[in-house]
Amino acid sequence: MLVMMSAHASAEEVRAVCRKIEEMGYKAHPIPGAMRTAIGITGNRGPLEAAAFEAMPGVVECVPVSKPYKLVALELREERTVIDLGDGVRVGGKELAIIAGPCAVESREQVFAIAAAVGKAGARLFRGGAYKPRTSPYSFQGLGEDGLKILAEARSEFGLKIVTEAVDNESLDKVEKYADVIQIGARNMQNFSLLKRAGKARKPVLLKRGLSATLDELLMAAEYILSEGNYEVILCERGVRTFADHTRNTLDLSVVPAVQRLSHLPIVVDPSHGTGRRDKVAPLSRAAVAVGADGLIIEVHHQPEQALSDGYQSILPSDFASLMKEISQIAALLDRTTALVC
Ligand code: PEP
Ligand code: MN
Repeated sequence: MLVMMSAHASAEEVRAVCRKIEEMGYKAHPIPGAMRTAIGITGNRGPLEAAAFEAMPGVVECVPVSKPYKLVALELREERTVIDLGDGVRVGGKELAIIAGPCAVESREQVFAIAAAVGKAGARLFRGGAYKPRTSPYSFQGLGEDGLKILAEARSEFGLKIVTEAVDNESLDKVEKYADVIQIGARNMQNFSLLKRAGKARKPVLLKRGLSATLDELLMAAEYILSEGNYEVILCERGVRTFADHTRNTLDLSVVPAVQRLSHLPIVVDPSHGTGRRDKVAPLSRAAVAVGADGLIIEVHHQPEQALSDGYQSILPSDFASLMKEISQIAALLDRTTALVC
């Protein structure tokens, strides 16, 4: 159930409702909106009595939530979640969040070369894994904390926000220290203990859709994070497994409007893992922007043939720069912008 406060409710009235919820043994999630605060309730096993709250000062009404997810549901807030990363970088706002960089952090030289190029081309966020979830235990597993230090250096040098993956609770402790956004990978979308840990983190989380996850499963995974008190979650479509073999995965762009119908959370698209083929990254990026995604996460490498992971799906910095121009034009048609000044 959601308790909707009036636009004029005082902070003390909001606190009193939260106190009552906590006294009942449940968890209160006050979510301020532009017009009014909504308070989500979690932890209750059955339906709650609305009358107990509706009599309280400042309460307008109680709204039962029909979906199994409560805090990610659109009912919770009138306006979409916009995640503010500082320095004017936002995810979910009018400006598309363009995240670009290599699959993995390989060296300082590699990160600096790519960060300089993607920053110049208009990306505001830089991606690169320091901890890599690889199919084979013999593949490159990432540089670990040394990789995170390189990413932090790149942030100071180029002013890009850092998005990097945590693969378990231990790496999450480290990633939380260095990154601006904590990435939870597709293979970990239903790693519930990791989701709970991410929910306790004080950094936004980019949650990738699992390889065969339904929309409900994706939203429930996000709910785990919000239910622990971290309301800053960015969903990411990165392709799902189908019988198609002309691409690595099938990028399900229809999930973007489907998410937007059900949830206030922003959603970005990963055309790199979504297709697994360099030549398909630009067309699917254009399509993702056209379908209404809030941003893109794209693998870029200056020497893809020498990349330690995912070289075959990484585009060159020059191709990324051309793509930025194209998507800026598509964005403009939809009343959105990119950081690229045309
Ligand atoms: C990645 O972004 O580097 C990654 C491993 O992606 P996914 O979890 O979508 O496979
Ligand atoms: Mn990759």
